[in-house]
Amino acid sequence: MVKCTCLRCLGKNQNQRFVLRYLFFSHNRSYGLANPGYLGTAETAPAMFAPPSPDNSGPSAPPAGMFDNMPGYEGTIAGDGGGFLPPPMPVGPVQPPQPGPEQPHWNIPSITEDTARGAFALYASSKCCYSKSPAKDGVITNMEAFNTYRYKLETFTESRSTQWAHEPYHGQPVDAYAQPPPGPWDIPAQTPSFFQDSKQVIKVPYTSSMKPCHVCMGMGRKPCTNCAGSGNKVCWVCNGSGFRHGNDRCHSCGGRGRDNCHHCHGNGSTQCPTCHGKQQLLVYINLTIKWTNNSDDYVVEQSSGLQISNLKKVTGKELFRESQYLVYPVMGFPDMSVVNASQRIVGEHVSRFSQTARILQQRQTIELIPVTKVNYSWKGKSHVYFVYGNEFTVHTDNYPATCCCSVM
Ligand SMILES: [Zn+2]
Ligand SMILES: [Zn+2]
Ligand SMILES: [Zn+2]
Repeated sequence: MVKCTCLRCLGKNQNQRFVLRYLFFSHNRSYGLANPGYLGTAETAPAMFAPPSPDNSGPSAPPAGMFDNMPGYEGTIAGDGGGFLPPPMPVGPVQPPQPGPEQPHWNIPSITEDTARGAFALYASSKCCYSKSPAKDGVITNMEAFNTYRYKLETFTESRSTQWAHEPYHGQPVDAYAQPPPGPWDIPAQTPSFFQDSKQVIKVPYTSSMKPCHVCMGMGRKPCTNCAGSGNKVCWVCNGSGFRHGNDRCHSCGGRGRDNCHHCHGNGSTQCPTCHGKQQLLVYINLTIKWTNNSDDYVVEQSSGLQISNLKKVTGKELFRESQYLVYPVMGFPDMSVVNASQRIVGEHVSRFSQTARILQQRQTIELIPVTKVNYSWKGKSHVYFVYGNEFTVHTDNYPATCCCSVM
């Protein structure tokens, strides 16, 4: 027997309510010494173990031994590419989502012939080569409404990940082991406006330590790559001989046959680009917080012949809007396919996002998108165009006069 797993059915009796709670909250884990914290993309981890880059001039990956073992941050790797940190248990009991208010009236607007004709004329004039004649002289023979609904669910999430980072040391406070670092989900952050993507990077307190720079081995300088560390190069004018045209001394190098290296000003070494010559690095853990608006929608199929993909770019009349921590799938809407889509998408979002992120807010909307199919005749033949969206966007597959030169 196939059991319905929609949220409403799951919530029907006591046993199944447990399943619902499980669905919402089972992902939670706590932090502690025994918990490595990280889940997920292990295959991206080797950055930490990669040997230092052979190119001494570029930033190279620090060796693994450079990082302290921080309780609660054991899975952290250098640079990007870490997995996600599973969100912690909610502090208090969380209200399961409540059904929204029933929708009283679903009011279906329609457009007038004048609106259709005006939109069509605008469409024809926007195409540089289209003759305006069909739009101007065509006679509308029939108009039919194929208004449709779009259901949209937005789930606004916060995800957190950590990365080892370093910067030149110039006296910053060193606080590693002064006390245990706060858990990655215990660090406060300023949540931006709901439903707007955003990102914040925070230095995790009590993880900063000072280490000799791994790129210059704590020297602060590196051999000049231009002169191989010698500080000078073969004179390009005399090619190293010190003389030109027999016994004339070379003016460029004063007869020495070698020139100072411009790159290192004759020093043979340059400042280390990683520690900026400071010899020491401040090594610490960065916490990256990402706020993401995850959106999915469903458009009810209509039989006008207009492809659904056309409706992506237009807006409709908003019939319903509801926003709360976790929304309950819409109920009582006259079109059952919208009700079903809402149940499906709400379930998908909860299971997809609650594992990897903290859901902060959800918003669901239903729009009515006006779609009008217009039949018209021009020069004795009948044709079709569509007017749709609040924007009165026009689409037609076969405009009868697509080249102005061919029309009298
Ligand atoms: Zn020379
Ligand atoms: Zn040099
Ligand atoms: Zn250095």
